[in-house]
Amino acid sequence: MSAQDKSVIDIVQGGPPPSANFGVLSPSAKQRLSEQLGPEGALLAPEDLQSYAYDGTFLEHRPDIVVLPRTTAEVQTILALATEEHVPVVTRGAGSGLAGGSVPLSGGIVLATTRMDAILELDDVNMLVRVQPGVVTADLHAAALARGLYYPPDPASQRQSTIGGNVAMCAGGPHGLKYGVTKDYVLGLEAVTADGRLMRTGGKMIKNVTGYNLTQLLVGSEGTLAVITEIIIRLIPKPRSTRTAMAVFPRIDDASRMITIILNAGVVPATIEIMDQDSIRCVEEWQHAGLPVDAEAILLIELDGEPSAVDVELRDVERLCSERGATEVRLAANAEESATLWAARRAVSASMARIRPTKLGEDISVPRSAIPEALTAIRAIAAKYGLLIPVYGHISDGNLHPNILFDRHDPEEVERVNKAAGEIFDVAVGLGGTLTGEHGIGSLKKEYLALALDPVELAMMRQIKDAFDPLGILNPGKVFPARPA
Ligand SMILES: Cc1cc2nc3c(=O)[nH]c(=O)nc-3n(C[C@H](O)[C@H](O)[C@H](O)COP(=O)(O)OP(=O)(O)OC[C@H]3O[C@@H](n4cnc5c(N)ncnc54)[C@H](O)[C@@H]3O)c2cc1C
Repeated sequence: MSAQDKSVIDIVQGGPPPSANFGVLSPSAKQRLSEQLGPEGALLAPEDLQSYAYDGTFLEHRPDIVVLPRTTAEVQTILALATEEHVPVVTRGAGSGLAGGSVPLSGGIVLATTRMDAILELDDVNMLVRVQPGVVTADLHAAALARGLYYPPDPASQRQSTIGGNVAMCAGGPHGLKYGVTKDYVLGLEAVTADGRLMRTGGKMIKNVTGYNLTQLLVGSEGTLAVITEIIIRLIPKPRSTRTAMAVFPRIDDASRMITIILNAGVVPATIEIMDQDSIRCVEEWQHAGLPVDAEAILLIELDGEPSAVDVELRDVERLCSERGATEVRLAANAEESATLWAARRAVSASMARIRPTKLGEDISVPRSAIPEALTAIRAIAAKYGLLIPVYGHISDGNLHPNILFDRHDPEEVERVNKAAGEIFDVAVGLGGTLTGEHGIGSLKKEYLALALDPVELAMMRQIKDAFDPLGILNPGKVFPARPA
């Protein structure tokens, strides 16, 4: 299948609505939830329901009730009730997702984990932490650092997103190159199944091949298989020193080749991030971080480790970039300058909201060797459809974020956006890559799943979903395309 083989899918509407025939939560069930969870644990007022109708996309749908459990036992009660009444349950962390995953498209119950926010145990000896899912990612970073430990996965949304949301999406971040992403740190889980049963997977041990790896099956399952209620996370020693550099490239093509050149020279930076000219301009107009607005691209490069080794590697990176077209390699003189550069990088996504009313943030992932071709193709698609598509992202992993900026109330522009997004998916898959590197499928990409998956693989995934959730009440209408008639 290719985007050309099918009529244009309305990506901007989040695909067709889920077709399953769900029940409506009965007044007595609402009453039971209100009594068990209290007035702050069960929200029914229209203005409260509206607050939980969104995530980080433009999709919107109100739930019938929002529940905010504090304990795993309360989660079990909620799911048992949902099964009894055949009502959808959409688990929600901070709602910062960029795929429509926590938007309750079929109504029903939104189960928000924000009150399950305890760090239950920080085990220095085993270098791990056991947390409830509603812990904010940045709070986990801070708690680990306070003990001289380090949790590397660092989504740009870290001050909002929850660790449960990170696990459910297998969130990535700039540090993916050297340290991997969320899945590389999850050792064990506690989760509640659709019918309210408690399941524990993995544990504190590092090595474990006893049976199927259900821990990793739940990582990235986007709230469609179970509700994650506790997470055991591996930590590592904090690197002894960190330095940041910004390399300025008049030609994006030169910038896009640097990752393979640097790695082949034997240097493994903690991260290399790219921002193209449109991204630089968006963020600079807002944050005034001193970024070079005339450059076609910049690379933000972080090296960490033993101070003397970092100095040597930094000089290598500076030389390599200068030899390959960089006009300037600016080293952050201190932690403050480094923080300014990284704050600018984290602000890119939000800064685009100031340019046009709507943003469709794509998340393609391609082999590193295909990055230059992917960037060229995205620029050609932007020109073909007359759209502004700034690109930034985790270039070191081949994970690019082309952001299509438009107005969703302009039907003619929406049609061009749908076509452009479909062609971007085609480019990614055609280059041996895939639809999403870290934001997940959710609602926005589900109709393109078959483009990227082997048919047998997709059929197996549907069987796994049916085994975990036979009534299909967990996050319906997400991840999977509508079943063929
Ligand atoms: C400005 C900005 C920058 C971002 N940068 C990055 C980035 O660098 N890297 C990256 O990977 N993502 C990024 N994101 C996307 C988003 O922050 C991540 O996907 C994050 O992991 C979502 O966490 P959340 O708590 O907000 O989850 P939500 O958005 O609330 O939920 C996301 C999905 O997880 C499911 N879910 C949530 N909690 C649970 C649970 N306890 N059990 C089962 N399912 C659950 C939901 O049902 C939903 O499908 C960014 C978003 C924004 C707005």
